[in-house]
Amino acid sequence: MTPPPMHRRADAGARHRCSHGAAARQVEPLSTGCLPCRQQGEGWVELWLCLSCGWVACCDNSPNQHAKAHYQETDHPVAARLPDGAHRRWCYVHDRAV
Ligand SMILES: [Zn+2]
Ligand SMILES: [Zn+2]
Ligand SMILES: [Zn+2]
Repeated sequence: MTPPPMHRRADAGARHRCSHGAAARQVEPLSTGCLPCRQQGEGWVELWLCLSCGWVACCDNSPNQHAKAHYQETDHPVAARLPDGAHRRWCYVHDRAV
């Protein structure tokens, strides 16, 4: 009877590092506002830009949280706050700023 292989601990520190932020690039925003909110006639607090595809959506402090919804639909990991996205980026996978 063969014991199951031990899980390697080499990855133990990896979750503390986030490679998503480094992999993200600056992309052109697809819109100047959160399109779902505009369609519903609703407002937002801040806008976040998906650095995978350029989707613009409202932040987690907004009533509809479309940026988080976009991550849950697409698995695109990193968003940047508009308009100064270079200064503030958020990794949804690691749930922290990167
Ligand atoms: Zn990450
Ligand atoms: Zn929205
Ligand atoms: Zn995206």
